[in-house]
Amino acid sequence: MNQFNWWDNNIQASLKAGALRLGKRFDGVINFYKVMTRWDGDDKSNEEILVALPKTLIWTPALPHAGQVFRPNMAAGFDAIMYLSPSLEFESQAFINHTVAHEFAHVHLGHHVGEGSIQLAKAGIKHGDQQHEREADALAAEWRFKRVKDTWMSRTMIAFAKSIAGKPRLCKKFMEALK
Ligand SMILES: [Zn+2]
Repeated sequence: MNQFNWWDNNIQASLKAGALRLGKRFDGVINFYKVMTRWDGDDKSNEEILVALPKTLIWTPALPHAGQVFRPNMAAGFDAIMYLSPSLEFESQAFINHTVAHEFAHVHLGHHVGEGSIQLAKAGIKHGDQQHEREADALAAEWRFKRVKDTWMSRTMIAFAKSIAGKPRLCKKFMEALK
């Protein structure tokens, strides 16, 4: 197994399944591939780690899709499914690159086999404060991906939260949706 097998088994296979489409999230996946296989001076590359990752279906739904259905065997032959939110298309490429690496770190750590979901907030605990999140970030950093502040999503959510201040029912709905 080498980097080209990884390309075929993950990127090509996700394209073929109709789960992965072109865009900034796709570019983020390509960036992950490039960084993991890059040699930095005398530092060896992370190709072996890349190749050993569980086979992942990378799913980048399009923004206008409020819902989507797939045949049950879309993910047949894959060991993990990675969902990359359409809202990422509004973020900087650096933020997306880190998100992709962070998700692959979850896969490497086996978090897709239990509670492996990415959440913005959970019962008052900030996403980044959760154990799995710290582990994924630490591993992504080891792989040379630094966390970048998100912009569009937080700005949008803060703006929305402000717009519904004084509307208790909407506020309650919003808080429920964050859980
Ligand atoms: Zn995470």
